[in-house]
Amino acid sequence: MITLAACEALDAADATAALREHFEPAPEGTIFLDGNSIGAMPKAVPERMARALHGEWSALRRQAWHHADWLDAPQRIGAAMAPLLGAPPQDVIAVDNTTLNLHKLLAYGLQLARADAGRRFIVYEPEGFPTDAHVVQGIVHHGQGRWAERAIDAPAELAGALRDDVAMVVLAHVDYRSSYRWDLAASTAAAHAVGARVLWDLSHSAGVVPVGLADSRADFAVVCGYKYLSSGPGAPALAYIRHDLQDRDWPALPGWLGHADRMNFRGAYAPAPGPLSLVTGTMPVLQNAAMDCAAHIWGQVDLALLFAKHESLSTTLAQLMHEQCGGLGVRQISPADYGQRGGHIAFSCPGGGATCEALLAAGVVSSFRQPDVIRFGLAPATVTHADLWHAVARLKHILEQQSWREARFQQVSV
Ligand SMILES: *Cc1c(COP(=O)(O)O)cnc(C)c1O
Repeated sequence: MITLAACEALDAADATAALREHFEPAPEGTIFLDGNSIGAMPKAVPERMARALHGEWSALRRQAWHHADWLDAPQRIGAAMAPLLGAPPQDVIAVDNTTLNLHKLLAYGLQLARADAGRRFIVYEPEGFPTDAHVVQGIVHHGQGRWAERAIDAPAELAGALRDDVAMVVLAHVDYRSSYRWDLAASTAAAHAVGARVLWDLSHSAGVVPVGLADSRADFAVVCGYKYLSSGPGAPALAYIRHDLQDRDWPALPGWLGHADRMNFRGAYAPAPGPLSLVTGTMPVLQNAAMDCAAHIWGQVDLALLFAKHESLSTTLAQLMHEQCGGLGVRQISPADYGQRGGHIAFSCPGGGATCEALLAAGVVSSFRQPDVIRFGLAPATVTHADLWHAVARLKHILEQQSWREARFQQVSV
């Protein structure tokens, strides 16, 4: 049985403990297990935002574009965060949101396959994260018959879906509900074997588990900025293009700030080199100021230690839940093998959404997905093993008392 003392001992030996000091602590009594939804705020953000407002916008106005490096933020932030993706710094950029980057990279990947008339299919998961599916569906809808969808409903179906008529494969590295983690290297190799390219969504893996984009020769990738990357609500997302796939064609959304000569203002479009061409128009300067603070933290982190901490948290939570709540009807729906899990763990839980609400009232912030799934996001920089022990103890109490049946918990807020 895992005891509170054992959890505290693991925390006392935690080689990443100093990282917590870079983030705003949770309010007394609150345990945030929602890093899969929105990450903790870096402590440096308020001061950095104040500088962007007063020292830059107000004091410098137009001069701030250059003097405060507003224009360079997408590359600067992308380069600092690239190690989280296992990618070279110059191949990553922070721009727009995940949805837009999925669209731009899928459209670009299809453009590269356009000349090969036999390649029509986009392999994807219609039951995956909605926006990822909608981007594929939108491109097929507007593609005037050129592109078609091929759905896979379970990971085991990938092999059968990969034929030489596939142009692109769009996959979430980690499923937002079950936390199932694909073998990124093996799946990429399987797609390459039939001449297809892969666009990975790393929103539930980057910054939590090893990704290894470059080693896997993955083609394209996106990452949500405001979840495990802690870049703030509405932060830009990351976009990655493998080096040898860059500069082969125009980006899908050419804009003035993705132009090779931004300040020329004349003549025809010419794409900027590399992922800089994915910049469309003006970047969100204030969001980038907040994201800079997160990039500063991630740029210094020892990733091997961070990933080891996550594995320790994830295996501890799985075991604690089994020991304390298994007899009360809680069942893990995420894979039993850590190597097949991403950032969070999902459990099927009596009371479902009402139990998630009761947990909130008890200070444990998790998130609910239909029909009865509660997800616990394990941001390794801020969550402790003792947090997990207390969270499971509070859940156990709620289930034993059946307090989730109270009328006030029946309206599900998340
Ligand atoms: C959160 C999330 C997104 C978010 O998309 P935005 O366009 O940035 O809002 C996309 N895909 C996945 C898998 C996610 O988890």
